[in-house]
Amino acid sequence: MKIKKGDSVVIVTGDEKGPAVRKVVSVVDGGRKLVIEGVNRAFKHVRRGHPKSPQGGRLQVERPIDASNVKLHCGGCNSPVRVGYRFTDDGAKERFCKKCGAGAGVISPAKARYAKS
Ligand SMILES: [Zn+2]
Repeated sequence: MKIKKGDSVVIVTGDEKGPAVRKVVSVVDGGRKLVIEGVNRAFKHVRRGHPKSPQGGRLQVERPIDASNVKLHCGGCNSPVRVGYRFTDDGAKERFCKKCGAGAGVISPAKARYAKS
């Protein structure tokens, strides 16, 4: 998937859909699922001795949602967009917004083989 940890996303379908821009806390299951801040919260029942709840009890945790339910939020368009990959002039791979064409961050370092000469 094209979504990474720390990205701003919008949930476009599913139980948690809404217009809010949210942050990806972590990517799980090889990119198929995402944990998103404040989304899909559930109670996890823990025994005594748990580091976050020494007495035991119920902890609120965020559960992963399917990555296909979210779209990257583009600051340029101020809307949820689809993401593509392209190479920059110096051969680095970057993601970009398919709507406005703005770059969305380099995801692998420059390689001469992909550089435009
Ligand atoms: Zn855009």
